[in-house]
Amino acid sequence: MNIKVNKNFENIKETYLFSEIASRVRKYQEENPDKKVIRMGIGDVTLPLSKVVVDAMKKAADEMGVKETFRGYPPEYGYDFLKEAIANYYKEMGKEIPASSVYVSDGAKSDLGNIVDIMGDNEIIIPDPVYPVYVDSNLMSGHNISLIEGNLENGFLPGPDQIDHAVNGAVIYLCSPNNPTGAVYSYEGLKAWVDFALKTGSLIIYDSAYEAFVVEDVPHTIFEIEGASECAIEICSFSKFAGFTGVRCGWTVIPEELESDGVKISKLWSRRQATKFNGVSYPVQRAAESALSPAGKAECLKNINYYKNNASMLAVLLKSKEIEFTGGVNSPYIWLKCPKGMSSWEFFDFLLNEAQIVGTPGEGFGKSGEGFFRLTAFGTYEATKEACERLDKLL
Ligand SMILES: *Cc1c(COP(=O)(O)O)cnc(C)c1O
Repeated sequence: MNIKVNKNFENIKETYLFSEIASRVRKYQEENPDKKVIRMGIGDVTLPLSKVVVDAMKKAADEMGVKETFRGYPPEYGYDFLKEAIANYYKEMGKEIPASSVYVSDGAKSDLGNIVDIMGDNEIIIPDPVYPVYVDSNLMSGHNISLIEGNLENGFLPGPDQIDHAVNGAVIYLCSPNNPTGAVYSYEGLKAWVDFALKTGSLIIYDSAYEAFVVEDVPHTIFEIEGASECAIEICSFSKFAGFTGVRCGWTVIPEELESDGVKISKLWSRRQATKFNGVSYPVQRAAESALSPAGKAECLKNINYYKNNASMLAVLLKSKEIEFTGGVNSPYIWLKCPKGMSSWEFFDFLLNEAQIVGTPGEGFGKSGEGFFRLTAFGTYEATKEACERLDKLL
């Protein structure tokens, strides 16, 4: 062929992380078939959908099979019933978000990746280590990325004071509670970013996928910070909140106030979605709506508490060993400093060989992740408990 392809793809690091983990585990299992490996690298939920959600999905599927209640293409931005349920969810958190500012989608990853479509060539600011989508989607568009370092000193919550150059109109990605570090911005920490964005004419893209795990007095949504509706977009998901990783539903909030170059950001996003996206299926949107009902929320929170109990078992164990870590409280993730100065992969092999526990080397989430390690709480209670016992003996 004689077409030009997007050469920017050459700048994206091959994601060997999970395949490399799988291949090391496979090799270990082949050599040690009698050993029971515990997987604590899972970044996916494992508990089934709640009954409320399944019932809503079934009922909607039945409606689709009857002439009078059949529905064709859904609205590109989501059915009003779901947008209103999401607006109401914000209201319960104390924030007034009009339903018209909510854009329903098939998940947060899609929106995080697609939002690049409506941006010109800006400086991109991203904390490191990080969920890889922000970096890779901007590399695909040839954008210039400034990484800011997360470390133990800043609790893996880098602030704008770490930026060492003049900024004029940057796009800033923040994720809180964070994947992979489990760290959460405080009100003050997030306010520093909002103030910085307002001062420099920047836009914050805020990933709140783990918002439902928040228990402490820290923000659930960036819109709890004054001024955020003049500088921030929020992207959230039913994946971690309601176990929708295999169902697919999320949303983006774009405040009407956001405007640059005389153009409303919401208008660009509406246009982008209407052109390239045909909406989320009716049964999925009914299922999502039911997850936000009082009964649905109660069931979803029960699952979240199950994972959080796992996380706190791990946290207690690490504390007793005086191993430094972030996360484990408002998050299903524990991010720990590898003991004895081990590198991320050295610790991976050490844990696998000595305790048959599989986690994720921090280096896979960016340069600043080297020397750190992620454990997740998405396993069963029994497996997590056994992992804690093994770690107690080993560390
Ligand atoms: C899991 C996750 C999401 C959710 O993505 P979906 O596409 O909605 O499943 C978004 N951001 C982060 C950081 C995540 O870990």
